[in-house]
Amino acid sequence: MKEVWDTIVIGGGQAGLALGYHLQKNGLRFLILEANERAVGSWPNYYDSLKLFSPARFSSLPGMKFPGAGDHYPLRDEVIRYLQKYAKQFRLPIQTNQRVESVEKTGDTFTIRTVSGNTYLSRTVINATGAFQHPYMPVIKGREKFRGNILHSSEYRNPTPFVNQRVVVVGAGNSAVQIAAELAEVSKTSLAVLRPVKFVKQRILGRDLHFWIRALGFDTFPIWRFGGVVPRSRAVIDLGQYKERLAAGKPDQRLMFSSFHADGVIWPDGTTERVDTVIFATGYRPHLVHLRNMGALDSEGRPLQTAGISTTVPGLYYVGLEGQRSFASATLRGVGPDAKFVVQKLLRHLKK
Ligand code: FAD
Repeated sequence: MKEVWDTIVIGGGQAGLALGYHLQKNGLRFLILEANERAVGSWPNYYDSLKLFSPARFSSLPGMKFPGAGDHYPLRDEVIRYLQKYAKQFRLPIQTNQRVESVEKTGDTFTIRTVSGNTYLSRTVINATGAFQHPYMPVIKGREKFRGNILHSSEYRNPTPFVNQRVVVVGAGNSAVQIAAELAEVSKTSLAVLRPVKFVKQRILGRDLHFWIRALGFDTFPIWRFGGVVPRSRAVIDLGQYKERLAAGKPDQRLMFSSFHADGVIWPDGTTERVDTVIFATGYRPHLVHLRNMGALDSEGRPLQTAGISTTVPGLYYVGLEGQRSFASATLRGVGPDAKFVVQKLLRHLKK
């Protein structure tokens, strides 16, 4: 007889690892299935210079402090090392190179199949595949004619390939501003926006922004309990220099171009300009195709859930969705409390 696990976690990023910590603490029998060869989530795919917007003090997963001084802002590779150490310290049962291709439910049992041909049975499933897996680019007129480079911010690593180019970065969020500021050092770079970038200071009255977010209860207020949706902040965290750089025109900020032409873009005032590269920092969309046969998703592929609990499939849960329970749900600091909450709900389900 094939073993029936208490739960299978899909995805071995920070969400999957934080879940592992709480599942283990509660004595549950589980596995974490990770598509890649390392369980460090999407962090290796983010750009080289990425520095966390929250200091180490506010970037820990449950049970293990983020190393180093509490007020330093860790780099991408420090996060990767931290996640590796975390999985090792708690000896989490991770199976790598196991991309889940389908999940089905028959009676009370889930069947999980991976691309490599393995099948697992479980009483519950927790999806932790990340909110930033499927890059989104808007459709812009004339794109097919453009002979330059088009890429999504998820493909951007560092400025080297763009030295002395004419570059346009599309978007007004953190990634757009950070990438455009970095490129403006080596190339003529513009930030193309629908609305002017809004900034929020990283340090207020001598404290990091995240101190105030926590102190004022923004990370913990259960808006979903009152039927509300967690609002999404569009503000860019100003790490001290971005606002100044934009004001100085490095990069300059302009209204989004109206279309492409063969060699560049056409700005709203009709001016045409030659452009080498356009980088879309225009976000991500859900990518939960492995859950599509269970009635778990809406017509646009978004999970039907409240606070991480599927509203259509009993025993199916999520951790790491944007705005799942708070502003912080899809971040290092927010994923631990969400994992704990979901594991408590799952325990109740298993006792039924
Ligand atoms: P991911 O890290 O995406 O991990 C999901 C895992 O699931 C991956 O390992 C993937 O291989 C695996 N997977 C996916 N599909 C399957 C499948 N079908 N089967 C098996 N495995 C699968 N947060 C912060 O706290 N601070 C920051 O400064 C910060 N900066 C960010 C900068 C950028 C550019 C982006 C995009 C996000 C940033 N975030 C930041 C947000 C968030 O913390 C990260 O996106 C983080 O990687 C999310 O972790 P996760 O575990 O939810 O998802």
